[in-house]
Amino acid sequence: MLLRNIRAPQAFSGKLRTLNSIREKTMPRTLRTLAIAACVAALHAAPALAQNAPEVTLTRIDCGTGAKPTLVAERFTDTFAYSKDLALTFTFSCYLIKHGSEYMVWDTGFAPGSNPNAPKVGIVDRLKELNVTPDQVKYVGISHFHQDHTGQLLPFGKATLLIGKGDWDGITANPPMQGANALGFTPWTKEGGKLEALATDKDVFGDGSVVVLRTPGHTPGHQSLLVRLKEKGPVILIGDLTHFRENYEGGGVPWFNFDRAQTVASLERIKKMASNLNATVIIQHDLRDIGKLPAFPAAAK
Ligand SMILES: [Zn+2]
Repeated sequence: MLLRNIRAPQAFSGKLRTLNSIREKTMPRTLRTLAIAACVAALHAAPALAQNAPEVTLTRIDCGTGAKPTLVAERFTDTFAYSKDLALTFTFSCYLIKHGSEYMVWDTGFAPGSNPNAPKVGIVDRLKELNVTPDQVKYVGISHFHQDHTGQLLPFGKATLLIGKGDWDGITANPPMQGANALGFTPWTKEGGKLEALATDKDVFGDGSVVVLRTPGHTPGHQSLLVRLKEKGPVILIGDLTHFRENYEGGGVPWFNFDRAQTVASLERIKKMASNLNATVIIQHDLRDIGKLPAFPAAAK
């Protein structure tokens, strides 16, 4: 049961098959138990970066800028952590990950022209500048179902959607959960698009280089993304786990989050992971984090 329920990174699946064939033959019960325990322990370990992983690059694409600063004390702290006049201008970020010859998009920002914060140039036109068409994108992963992260999903209807199960349940509920941009998901809810509603982490390309991380709290199925780059090192795109640096550092939680305890636990997970991997954490809405990646059209390698 356990073995079947765990999604094995490709590096381990060979071991699994070998183990299964041994088990079917003559392995004594105790040995068999030990072998299964060892295998389960291996599967629980974070996927290591495979030596032969193809080159991976990460490009930030601008997907909107706040038309005016947000007074964060009003809605972004449930403990009155900030003075009334602390105002931050939010940015809205999309990302392109190239893995060998395959592409993944992470978050799609606002649709151009949809509101005063929306980008002037849409993601499809930005991809064109990189000689990438939406049909070349194999995976579209989202941190969560809010409009400012899913406003340009429609062009990627042929890609496999990687969405947290809690968010998928929220979109497909009748009526959809408050704040869920259900209309943006039409290719998958109404037109049979391929999707994976993830209840656990997902090693996207099977070599540990790009891993969707389960970080619920902001929404029920909120996710982050670990991208391991050869030159720059690991990068973690944290969606709306926090919206700005002060909340990341101080463990602050906005009053409107779905679940406070889950948010705190997810933040603890990411902070520990970042420290263990010596990773660069990117707060997607924080203007001060834009400079952590090269300016478009350059990519981090
Ligand atoms: Zn959000």
